[in-house]
Formats: sequence, structure tokens, C-alpha cells
Amino acid sequence: MRRMGHGLHRRVRIEPGKRADLAKIDADDTLGLERDEAEELVRERQERLEVLQGYLKWGAAQALVVLFQGMDAGGKDGAVRQLVAGLNPMIVNFVAFGKPTKEELAHDFLWRIRREVPERGEISLFNRSHYEDVLVVRVDELVPEPVWRPRFEVINTFEAELARQGTTVVKFMLHVSRDEQLERLAERATLPEKHWKHSADDMRKRGQWDAYMEAYEEAIKRTGTEVSPWYVVPADRKWVRNAVVLDTVVHTLEEMRLPTPTPPEDAAEELLNRPAGD
Ligand code: AMP
Ligand code: MG
Repeated sequence: MRRMGHGLHRRVRIEPGKRADLAKIDADDTLGLERDEAEELVRERQERLEVLQGYLKWGAAQALVVLFQGMDAGGKDGAVRQLVAGLNPMIVNFVAFGKPTKEELAHDFLWRIRREVPERGEISLFNRSHYEDVLVVRVDELVPEPVWRPRFEVINTFEAELARQGTTVVKFMLHVSRDEQLERLAERATLPEKHWKHSADDMRKRGQWDAYMEAYEEAIKRTGTEVSPWYVVPADRKWVRNAVVLDTVVHTLEEMRLPTPTPPEDAAEELLNRPAGD
């Protein structure tokens, strides 16, 4: 029997060194999935994720960083929530990277990221990341090009070093269309329950759309590697986004070849044969 949704991760993976032509990647793509099939797949992968996180914790030799980038209202929060649903709070650490504080700005751009790299056996989910330092920083010209451009190399070295030490970094760009983004931003501006996410700055950044796409394309091309590839996820439909993200994270953990715990054969027997009242 064909495994459900087999190979979704492969469909959205950007081959290292290749340019992702974002204008040509359909944000509304369903990847041939039906909604109920996608939701079933999410449940199945969440169950598998629960098992794999236990192996990760038990082995305590490897770790995982899952990072999300994308335009405002691209679904970074939502994707994180779907992942967290399958994870144990003792094993997963969630971090959102906003505008750097004064203290963070006084250090190199990776300082705040390094502090959030998970310990062995654990998982960190990043809502935004060190990539902001070659995205918003580039588009808003927060530092000159000779400062941000060398960061591609710095990032590659950083991620390669993490990989060597057993920490895998998986990178998602949640790709929404301009129309879908506008709809979501309008909801944030008007619906009381969504208003907490509203930010006037989002409309300004929306006006820089093309500059952002160019910055994303170059970042993806320059930092996609075999050990740490980029996945560009069609994100107009939340159920497609969730299925792709869960499938990719589970695939990544399977590829990490986590050791399977081997409880001693007599352990259960010993417990069951304890005297009554113990
Ligand atoms: P949000 O994700 O909606 O909470 O917004 C966080 C904001 O912080 C976004 O506008 C990001 O572009 C911004 N941000 C994140 N990292 C950086 C950075 N390194 N430099 C400047 N702005 C950043
Ligand atoms: Mg925001």
C-alpha cells in the first residue's frame, strides 16, 4: 500500500544551490491533496512525531531546529501550533525572534540564536530566525550591503557546524500570495479576536513585497545545503501547509537515524512479578 502523502516533503524541497522562483511557485497549490486526506495525514504524522521525539530524548545525542520564515500573516504561528500539538513540552522549546533588543544588537547577529540552540535530545521551534538578518535587515537597509552580504557564508558555516555536532536545522519558507496576505491582514485589522496580531508595520512591509521576494530568493539559493535544505511551502491553504510541514519534520527525524531504545527483555517480567502491594 502506498504510504499516505508519500513524498510531500520532496515536492517542496529546493535543491541546494537552485533558485526558487517564488513568482512561479503557486501559493494556492494543493499538491494533489484533498482536505480530509491532508488532515488525516497530519494526525498520522503527529502520532509518529510523538514516538520520534521520545527516541530523540532517549538517545540524547542529536537535536533538531525547525525554523519558519515568511511574510507577515504567512502562517508561522499556525504551523508552530500544529507541530507543538504532537510534541511534549519537556522536549520542545519555542522561540519567536522579534526586533533585536539593545543587548542583542550589541552582539553579533548569531548571538541570540546560539542561545536558543536546543540541548541534545531536544527540539527548538523558531518563529523567525537568523534569516531576518539577511531579509528585513537587507530590505530596510538597517545595515549596509558589505555587512549583510557576508552573512550568507557565516550562516552556512554555523549550520554546518551544528550539523556536525548532530543538530539538524530544517528551514521552511511559508509562501503566501499577496491576495491571501491582504485578506489575513484585513481580518487582523477588523476582527476583535485577531486584533492582537495587528501591526501597522505589516502594511508597510507589504509595500516592499518585491524586494522581499528578491531577498528570499537569494537567501534560499545561498543557504540551501544538503545538510540543511530549504522547503518552500504553499501556504494559502492552512491544511496544505500543515500537512507539508508535519510530513517534512517527520521525514527529517526519520533521516536522522535516531537510535531505538532497547528495553532489556526481562524488565517487564521483573515488574510484573513483584510481590503484591509493592
Ligand atoms: P512578529 O513576528 O509579528 O512578532 O514581528 C516581529 C518583527 O521583528 C518583524 O517585523 C520582523 O521583521 C522583526 N525582526 C525580526 N528579527 C529582526 C532583526 N534581526 N532585525 C530587525 N528586525 C527584526
Ligand atoms: Mg506580526
